[in-house]
Amino acid sequence: MALSKKSISPVGPESLFLHRVVCLSCGAQVSREHLQEHFEALNPTWTAESHGVAPDGDVFLPEEQVRHFHVPSCSKCGGVLKPDVVFFGDNVCKEKVDFVYQRLEESDAILVAGSSLQVFSAYKFALAARDRKLPIAIVNIGPTRADSLASLKLNSRCGALLPSILL
Ligand SMILES: [Zn+2]
Repeated sequence: MALSKKSISPVGPESLFLHRVVCLSCGAQVSREHLQEHFEALNPTWTAESHGVAPDGDVFLPEEQVRHFHVPSCSKCGGVLKPDVVFFGDNVCKEKVDFVYQRLEESDAILVAGSSLQVFSAYKFALAARDRKLPIAIVNIGPTRADSLASLKLNSRCGALLPSILL
């Protein structure tokens, strides 16, 4: 994430991780908050208890707890929804790449939050920051691809650390 007047993430100009979903068929975008209302409407009595949380935020649920869960589809076309993030192996669209490079031009440092930077397109932003001689700070559990480029590396959960940072 570059530090400019506008906070950004490598996955999109208006979004931070996981706050929006997108339809794989028609491209419609829905806020995660709105999707939550659909989850609750389709599954009014459903409850589950997590048996662990992975570093990426995934939770582990037994099969019997998810067997009867109803997954909402796109309200416009019935298509499959997915988080509006770039998964490993996905391509980042040119518009988003251009946006990030524009923000890098405005930035005096970058902060990588919660990414191993194993996706090359994200790592390229760190390389671009290095080329511009911008300081790089990284908050992540475990190693990242850009650890050798970082001025500051903190092994921490973002949710635990980031709320205490004042800019
Ligand atoms: Zn759709």
